Amino acid sequence: MDKKSDTMEKVVSLCKRRGFVFQGSEIYGGLAGVFDYGPNGVELLNNLKQLWWKANVYDKENYYGIDSGMFKHPKVWEASGHTSGFSDPLADCRECNTRIRVDKELEAIGVTADEKMSEEEINKLFEENREKISCPKCGQKDFTPARAFNLLVKSNLGDFTSEGGEPVYLPGEACQGIYLNYKNILNSMSPKLPFGMAQIGKAFRNEISPRNFLFRTREMEQADTQFFVKPNENKEAFEKIKQDRFDWYVSIGIKPENLRFTQHKNLVFYAADAWDIEYNFPGGFDELEGIHDRTDYDLTQHMKFSGVDLNYTDPETGEKYIPWILETSVGLGRMFLAVLADAYHEEEMDGNTRTVLKLHPDLAPNRVAVSPLLKNKPELVEKAREVFKLLKAEFGNVAWDDNGNVGKRYRRQDEIGTPSCIVIDFETLGQEKPELADTVTVRDRDTGEQERVAIADLIQRLK
Ligand code: ATP
Repeated sequence: MDKKSDTMEKVVSLCKRRGFVFQGSEIYGGLAGVFDYGPNGVELLNNLKQLWWKANVYDKENYYGIDSGMFKHPKVWEASGHTSGFSDPLADCRECNTRIRVDKELEAIGVTADEKMSEEEINKLFEENREKISCPKCGQKDFTPARAFNLLVKSNLGDFTSEGGEPVYLPGEACQGIYLNYKNILNSMSPKLPFGMAQIGKAFRNEISPRNFLFRTREMEQADTQFFVKPNENKEAFEKIKQDRFDWYVSIGIKPENLRFTQHKNLVFYAADAWDIEYNFPGGFDELEGIHDRTDYDLTQHMKFSGVDLNYTDPETGEKYIPWILETSVGLGRMFLAVLADAYHEEEMDGNTRTVLKLHPDLAPNRVAVSPLLKNKPELVEKAREVFKLLKAEFGNVAWDDNGNVGKRYRRQDEIGTPSCIVIDFETLGQEKPELADTVTVRDRDTGEQERVAIADLIQRLK
């Protein structure tokens, strides 16, 4: 096993062992492409969302947050092109019926394919490279031609109405909710161009081969921003947004050498430019976030299909136009995986190998853990409870940990990524050295160093 896939296995195992992520419906044998977040996972996920929201709404003056309904009018997915064009090219192995995603297999042998290519274009490339692609299960090279397989997930909402008609889909991408509410924002918040909208929302895709843990799932959450600009005033803003998003990943602790930009070679017909921020996942560099210059396509399509005027009127000049849209879109699961893979370290400490998640303190599931040195000494437990309550009132996510000996607690909190551990001992009670009364031991996750801090100074010290 190479080092990288080894890292993936270790991250998956840590996620399960320490209550970060579990396979969805595990007791029934699991449901592929669906994962459940456990107590530590949901804290990390929520911290990621909060930091993302802060950077993309609170720290900006002209971005408006929304949370749109998941079910949308069937026409939305027609207007967006999803019912006709949102598909993966799939082929079946004639020997063992294993289904492969042809664009990804082509990419793996260095042939650029794009999900937006026609069936004919993909099949031409597939044919030309047939000898280089083998079935991942049986190794044969005999496949059916690729067929487009639509990724939208149908619901039965509306089946009970007399209208019959088109199915109501689950969202294939979260951003459509932003386009649908653009006019509501113009009318209710009166923003002046340029302005942005932001949303974190669920999306569902019939991915044929969900893989690499949280990297490709069937149910996901996407964090999207759409920035509305005057036509042709896109270039400077696009560059700024790109850099802003890259810098944000660095600000939450991801190593810059594990991030890179890649420009799309095959632009979809309406796009003016498209880039990915790639992360060096355990499987190698791959798309973390997409940054797209979508021109006026989305609003023009929705104007055409809904019949509602989506023009923006410049309040000063009276000029009317459809704004262009600059989009950023990232899957929270991919972001979660990137953060974990980046924070995962195995290293020597005190003569032992330890596993530690060196998470940014604002991301760590527990801001701090508090323990009594011995859990069978009521006076220590009582004092530790006092400190625990004090810190919980300040930070919220504070862990109480009295399981096993102190060394084991440190190892456990290292694996969860808790930046500091506090131990209340007999010195805290003033029993051994009166000058140390009301002081505690604070142990640093990254260095393992311990220092004595007065309880009265703890909050300030931890901040
Ligand atoms: P890919 O080429 O990897 O399938 P995409 O180009 O289809 O991704 P977009 O439709 O642009 O992705 O979605 C925006 C973001 O949503 C991606 O950058 C990624 O972070 C996330 N994303 C997309 N599909 C999935 C998935 N199946 N599982 C998890 N995250 C996903």
